Amino acid sequence: MGLPVILLRIFLLLAITMVPISDAWGKEGHFMVCKIAENYFSDRTSTAVSELLPADAGGDLASVCSWADEVRFRYRWSSPLHYINTPGVCNYKYSRDCHNAKGEKDMCVVGAINNYTTQLQSYGGDSSGYDLSESLLFLAHFVGDVHQPLHVGFQVDEGGNTIIVHWYRRKTNLHHVWDVNMIETAMKDFYNNDLNSMIEAIQMNITETWAGEIHQWETCRGRSVTCADKFASESIQLACDYAYQDVEEDSTLEDDYFYSRLPVLEKRIAQAGVRLATILNRIFYDSSASGNLNDLLLKSVVEIIEANTISAK
Ligand SMILES: [Zn+2]
Repeated sequence: MGLPVILLRIFLLLAITMVPISDAWGKEGHFMVCKIAENYFSDRTSTAVSELLPADAGGDLASVCSWADEVRFRYRWSSPLHYINTPGVCNYKYSRDCHNAKGEKDMCVVGAINNYTTQLQSYGGDSSGYDLSESLLFLAHFVGDVHQPLHVGFQVDEGGNTIIVHWYRRKTNLHHVWDVNMIETAMKDFYNNDLNSMIEAIQMNITETWAGEIHQWETCRGRSVTCADKFASESIQLACDYAYQDVEEDSTLEDDYFYSRLPVLEKRIAQAGVRLATILNRIFYDSSASGNLNDLLLKSVVEIIEANTISAK
């Protein structure tokens, strides 16, 4: 990958020495999404992912899940691929909203998820010159981003970025509250500053509290491979119902906001992890098959969870 490998080295060095620092759906958020996904990889997915990962990743997708944020300013064209803006409405339409500032179509997070999925489907065949390692790192990151409610927010406030608020006593902005501050506070208050404990708690909920919903998380209407339109629609709805709700410029957000929104945030991380695994399992089930993946006989995450539970007994 040339230069990105150097960046990855620097990033990994930072990741090892400073675990974990904050950034967009911060490093912690993306790390959790990819860690959760790894649990539900099929054998084929695990093999393909280890083959595609850069050597510096140490065989762990989660360690490079924030790579797309690291290259965001060097690959300037990729910057609009992290989000979607709506014209101030609580719904999302691909044809209306999926474009960059210049109006170029498909240049949004949903377009990116679909595009990198298509690229990865050429794995094992004629890859037509795509750098599939980069495709994988982009896809893993953007499936996380589309689940952060404010990554599908209003144009006018740039997904909450221009809404200055106080998170307890710290000055920040609403977007950052959802990317970073809530996760940090949750880790401090409930998980002894241990990211692995937070991941374990979310996973416990996947196999217990939310077990009955997983099938619905994995599927969508129509023949979409990725269901990314559905994820974006959910996010803007949650942005309106929870993220923007009762918030104004200069609001102070503390316990009331935190306790009522944290369950939403944790569930979005869980959904992103499960869905990333689902998408990758579909892609690598049969890389040469294209089109209607509903016809493919492949294990769903629900079945993988059931199999794991039985073998653990
Ligand atoms: Zn991002």
